[in-house]
Amino acid sequence: MRVSVLGAGVIGVTTAYFLAKDGHEVTVIDRADAAARETSFANGGQISVSHTDPWASPDNLRKVISWLGDQDAPLVFKPSLDPALLKWIWLYLKNCTTARAALNTERMLRIAAYSQNVFKDIRSDVDAPYDARHTGIVHIYRQAKSYTKALKQAEAVTALGIERAPISKDLALEIEPNLSHAMDSLCGIIYAPTDESGNARVFTENIVAACQKVGVTFRFHETVQELLSDGTCISGVRTDKGEITSERLVVAMGSYSPLLLRSLGIKLPVYPAKGYSVTLPVEDKHLAPITALIDDEKKLVYSRLGNRLRIAGLAETVGYDTKIHDARARLVLSGALELFPNAGDISQATYWTGLRPQTPDSVPVLGATPLKGLYLNTGHGTLGWTMSAGSARVVADIINDRTPEINMSGLGFNRFR
Ligand SMILES: Cc1cc2nc3c(=O)[nH]c(=O)nc-3n(C[C@H](O)[C@H](O)[C@H](O)COP(=O)(O)OP(=O)(O)OC[C@H]3O[C@@H](n4cnc5c(N)ncnc54)[C@H](O)[C@@H]3O)c2cc1C
Repeated sequence: MRVSVLGAGVIGVTTAYFLAKDGHEVTVIDRADAAARETSFANGGQISVSHTDPWASPDNLRKVISWLGDQDAPLVFKPSLDPALLKWIWLYLKNCTTARAALNTERMLRIAAYSQNVFKDIRSDVDAPYDARHTGIVHIYRQAKSYTKALKQAEAVTALGIERAPISKDLALEIEPNLSHAMDSLCGIIYAPTDESGNARVFTENIVAACQKVGVTFRFHETVQELLSDGTCISGVRTDKGEITSERLVVAMGSYSPLLLRSLGIKLPVYPAKGYSVTLPVEDKHLAPITALIDDEKKLVYSRLGNRLRIAGLAETVGYDTKIHDARARLVLSGALELFPNAGDISQATYWTGLRPQTPDSVPVLGATPLKGLYLNTGHGTLGWTMSAGSARVVADIINDRTPEINMSGLGFNRFR
């Protein structure tokens, strides 16, 4: 079958990989000059199955309200009358109950845990380095209140089969010796031993090379302008370079996914949540963390990517604006230096922003749509790197009329209809 995949981020490229393995004639279309040039470019690097904490919960709602108007808060909300944002907020609020948060945690974890297994399969097929570390993720807390709440979520995640449990300061120092400077300021530490980290961009580029070897066509510098359909069935796309016909279409355009779907009557509640990252070169003289870390209170994550340290986080609802605001970028860097004063060469720091394709329930949207031949693999929000391999495999299964290896209930577009 001729299948077009729209978007060459980590999600689109892994989807193309599994579709090509199934023997389809696959074309990937992206407006950028290479794969992983938007949100998959410089994200936090964490494959954090244990950190499947939905944004919508009673606790988070209280935090979001307390942050309103504070430009230094982890989340900056810019008021707007954009109907897409208003609809998103409405759905977000509906998910801010204890019961919905528990349901969404299970859904996120189901696809994330599966994804971690699928990564193993990909690694056995594509043997290319991507600065992977398999040493778990350390979560740190300074305030007793947030630590107590985190323990509850850790228990919930552990009950679902992924260990995330408190550890002593001594053990934390064995796992991450460079935390010694900050240790006195911490009141609690939680460790998720099976979590991982790695460079999503490098991984995606490796998969592009593997795809090209088996005949996948990549059309870069090409912008998709319209999805073509006769009202019941998809027939292809129109781009700035002409028409491409295909029997199956996978929308994997990250935060931009809802825009072209609208004209087909498909209202997908995915909204961009802008985040920042700072990357520092690390030399022998520096004392950067070697283990991945999450600072939940400041909403920052840390990953060691070879001889570089990546710190990422914060969230802003500012539409599709990807401008780097110095004050926000500095907030990420100062958070890192507070914990690790000698983390790396700050004179060579590089700054980046990306748009998380966020759904109101933090669960991605995978599989079929009301239009025959049109499939979605999008809306992965904070965990697109973590969920990429598993999402790609299940979407390929669905396109092939194969039953996915995990239960797909609650992971599809139907939940928004
Ligand atoms: C600061 C930050 C930190 C993060 N940290 C982590 C982390 O630690 N772990 C984790 O699991 N996830 C993390 N994420 C989330 C993760 O990066 C995303 O969920 C993931 O990259 C989304 O991948 P994607 O392929 O859907 O989107 P993208 O990578 O954005 O790819 C979409 C592609 O579609 C293309 N496109 C869009 N519109 C068109 C068009 N009209 N025509 C042609 N091409 C088009 C774009 O050029 C782009 O290449 C983080 C995100 C941010 C912002």
